Amino acid sequence: MRTVSHWSGGTFFAGTSTDTAPVTNPATGIVTGSVALANVQDARAVIDAAESAFPAWRDTSLAKRTTVLFTFRELLNARKGELAEIITAEHGKVLSDALGEVSRGQEVVEFACGIAHLLKGGMTENASTNIDVASFRQPLGPVAIISPFNFPAMVPMWFFPLAIATGNTVVLKPSEKVPTAALWIAQLWAEAGLPAGVFNVLHGDKTAVDELLSNPAIKAISFVGSTPIARYVYTTGTANGKRVQALGGAKNHAIVLPDADLNLAADAMVNAGFGSAGERCMAISVLVAVGDIADTLVTKIAERTRTLTTGDGTTNPDMGPLITQAHRDKVASYIDTGEKDGATVVVDGRTVQANGGPDGFWLGPTLIDHVSTDMSIYTDEIFGPALCVVRVDTYDQALHLVNASPYGNGTAIFTNDGGAARRFHNDIEVGMVGINVPVPVPMAYYSFGGWKNSLFGDSHAHGTEGIHFFTRGKVVTTRWLDPSHGGINLGFPENN
Ligand code: NAD
Repeated sequence: MRTVSHWSGGTFFAGTSTDTAPVTNPATGIVTGSVALANVQDARAVIDAAESAFPAWRDTSLAKRTTVLFTFRELLNARKGELAEIITAEHGKVLSDALGEVSRGQEVVEFACGIAHLLKGGMTENASTNIDVASFRQPLGPVAIISPFNFPAMVPMWFFPLAIATGNTVVLKPSEKVPTAALWIAQLWAEAGLPAGVFNVLHGDKTAVDELLSNPAIKAISFVGSTPIARYVYTTGTANGKRVQALGGAKNHAIVLPDADLNLAADAMVNAGFGSAGERCMAISVLVAVGDIADTLVTKIAERTRTLTTGDGTTNPDMGPLITQAHRDKVASYIDTGEKDGATVVVDGRTVQANGGPDGFWLGPTLIDHVSTDMSIYTDEIFGPALCVVRVDTYDQALHLVNASPYGNGTAIFTNDGGAARRFHNDIEVGMVGINVPVPVPMAYYSFGGWKNSLFGDSHAHGTEGIHFFTRGKVVTTRWLDPSHGGINLGFPENN
């Protein structure tokens, strides 16, 4: 049985802890390996490696850093199929979806390849007589990335290309459920010529996270996961003087207005509701049907949902399994409760015949109509293939519903009315908005992030906000002395 170890200072690192967690293939239920769970000493050893590598990497020229980034990009592009296979084997998502996530991560690497331009500062000559002012941004030091199970490659790649490009060193703590992708990426960095210690992988649970949150060497934390843990990481990390961006959970609504093309809207709902078995923070989990289109729209979505196949992601079905048996049972119990509370289960995934192992964590796509806002299936983040339909009479009711949600990650509207769409993107209290686009994940050169309980901190991921997050500004005011600059003046420096 293979053991997934840490990666520290450019090599595998076993650590001293004997604690491990099982690594499971969700399509078969078979345990395929185990992952090390760091104790405090192991975590400190990995953090020390990142700290030791920082001074030299900070002082490495942008030309040399960029060379490594371009090489990493080329290697990743050539070998991303290997990474996708690792993702499917541990997460369960279908191979094409796994490849898609790697490609979206690769876009951030490509953005980071332009770091020389992105880090350009400002300069003002003769701001005051014979005085020049220059501003630039410098790296922070060792930074930590703590990532969730649902995007083993893409979510870490939202952060580490920019953290590394800007001159920081990185400790990545992946989800213990999907640990191998991070190790594969670490080896790719080494092959690309990244100096030892610049990119490190620390496996573990709360013990490892707490050390990252408290160790003074760690200067910043990028966290992605559920809202309660995001809130904890933000509160603890900032109390310890660290810069923190903590992206949390979601409950994304899509509004369909009566004038929308209902066939296109139905396609979009199926794609956004059931892609990756609903285990996406940008999945649509609530459809808000406005006016008298609801019956027709639900029928169209149900027809499409019934055609979906569920199975082992390596065999090219539409949808794979859920991440664990416990999670599968939790999602199913939400559907049970919704049904008991009076919702209508139109398509029932609880009895799905999946094309995969008998012990896989199967739950088919489930469409639930007549959901009301007091039901737990509406209020809670389900994170599974359960698409709820809430019916309202007017646009204003729909808008109010979305804005009343404690989450604000993504949302979408389907309409052919430009005025309504414009009003929506102005009024909606959500960070990422799609107009006839169901999963509006921003490109790498824009920033990714939600509002309210979907993000704690004030920086979103990647784009220019990512550059700012991983750097701090410095302003240098310069005068080269000549004899005319002498004299005593205790007043506050004024410009003249
Ligand atoms: P999770 O919160 O359980 O775990 C996230 C990370 O925190 C993991 O690395 C995990 O090891 C660590 N962790 C877990 N419990 C901890 C604890 N008690 N103390 C300290 N650290 C702990 O999340 P998950 O189940 O892996 O991922 C799914 C969640 O992530 C969903 O809520 C989803 O919406 C969210 N997510 C959000 C975004 C976004 O961009 N907002 C993106 C992807 C996933």
